[in-house]
Amino acid sequence: MREVADVGDDLGPAKVLHVREPALSLRAVLVVDNVARGPSIGGLRIAPDVSVEECFRLARAMTMKNAAAGLPHGGGKSVLWGDPRMPTDRKEALIRAFAHALRNERDYIFGPDMGTDEVCMAWVNDEIGRAVGLPAAIGGIPLDQLGATGWGLSSSADVAARRCGVPLEGARVAIQGFGAVGKHAARFLATKGAVLIAASDTRGTLVNDGGIDFARLMQLKESGRPVCDYPEGHRLDRDAILDVPCDIWIPAARPDVVREDNVQRLKARLVLEGANIPITAKAEAILHAKGVLVVPDFIANAGGVICAAMEYRGATQAAAFEAIEEKIRANTETVLDRVAKEGILPRVAAERLAIDRVRAAMTTRRFNIM
Ligand code: NAD
Repeated sequence: MREVADVGDDLGPAKVLHVREPALSLRAVLVVDNVARGPSIGGLRIAPDVSVEECFRLARAMTMKNAAAGLPHGGGKSVLWGDPRMPTDRKEALIRAFAHALRNERDYIFGPDMGTDEVCMAWVNDEIGRAVGLPAAIGGIPLDQLGATGWGLSSSADVAARRCGVPLEGARVAIQGFGAVGKHAARFLATKGAVLIAASDTRGTLVNDGGIDFARLMQLKESGRPVCDYPEGHRLDRDAILDVPCDIWIPAARPDVVREDNVQRLKARLVLEGANIPITAKAEAILHAKGVLVVPDFIANAGGVICAAMEYRGATQAAAFEAIEEKIRANTETVLDRVAKEGILPRVAAERLAIDRVRAAMTTRRFNIM
């Protein structure tokens, strides 16, 4: 296994902290990547098999995402090695012990990730007062319930759809993954006149060219039923969502769902990446060459992290939603301007935007002193 020292570069990581508490069999690691823009924010993941190198890559992704979102935060990530489905009392003991061990590590603010949720963040907050994604009862903004990321996607859609000549009024939308991100994207896009014509989940794809009532579909999903239980429309297999001709295609499920081997199936004019890395780099390049505009994940889906950063400052829900709209609209404009001017891929433009912001911040900080 490669060590972080082999993969680090001039941006980071700033530190890698291993935590062990033998009495509890606690083993965990924190990677703080870069804090030039401010204390790092990133999730605490509980998993049995994440390497330190992978933790570093996830921390770097947060550096990029937070910088691209224009937040005064760097990127970090922590991993607690264990079974995410362990009994709650053991999970609480481990998380509290890990947080306590990092009580003086002011360069890192905990957030939820795979294997942790708002209750876990409440435990961290109780220990050290440094966590985002808290329950509403202690001042948290329930971002998945409110649809912060879906709101951000619809803000990005406003800008991107105009750029590729797709009026949102009447635009036909297909969404892969009708969960927290997908269903709220459908809801906010509907308020702008877009029509949901297809949606999928792990159990299948529902297609209805006449339009799907997103509110009825949301209600159905929230009662635990699959999208294919919606009474009107065609029911197809899970991956048939890739073949649905539409104006806007939104992957909001899993990484790497569009690859070189299936990218030709997509028949959309605009793709807004709701999930993280849903399309491989090669497939993104193929879409670009075909004239399909793809707004990269960390530009389009930053609503959740912007909401979390606003929560950390004690902002109201309304202020958080205003910040999401303003930042994501501006970032989408900037990225698409660079694409048009420099003839580069949207992802390259997005990465440059983020790195420029990190480097600009680094020139103002003491680690600039040789
Ligand atoms: P979720 O669990 O609420 O919803 C995911 C949905 O996708 C579920 O309906 C599930 O049935 C469906 N799904 C899973 N695999 C599928 C497949 N192969 N084909 C079709 N449907 C499939 O999760 P979420 O919070 O909506 O997150 C979705 C994605 O977006 C994840 O990759 C997540 O990391 C990313 N993301 C989420 C947020 C957020 O604010 N929640 C922010 C940024 C990125």
